[in-house]
Amino acid sequence: MPESPAFEPVGDAVCWLESVCDECGALIEAELPAECWRCGSEVVAS
Ligand SMILES: [Zn+2]
Repeated sequence: MPESPAFEPVGDAVCWLESVCDECGALIEAELPAECWRCGSEVVAS
């Protein structure tokens, strides 16, 4: 996926979908892979 300027705050759902915890659905704002802040599961980029 090519990088693009974040000038459009709405409509970038695809960008953060892979940063959502599979276990609890929490949004992971850290760089992946990261430990889920809510449930502790490891979240990796798909
Ligand atoms: Zn989680």
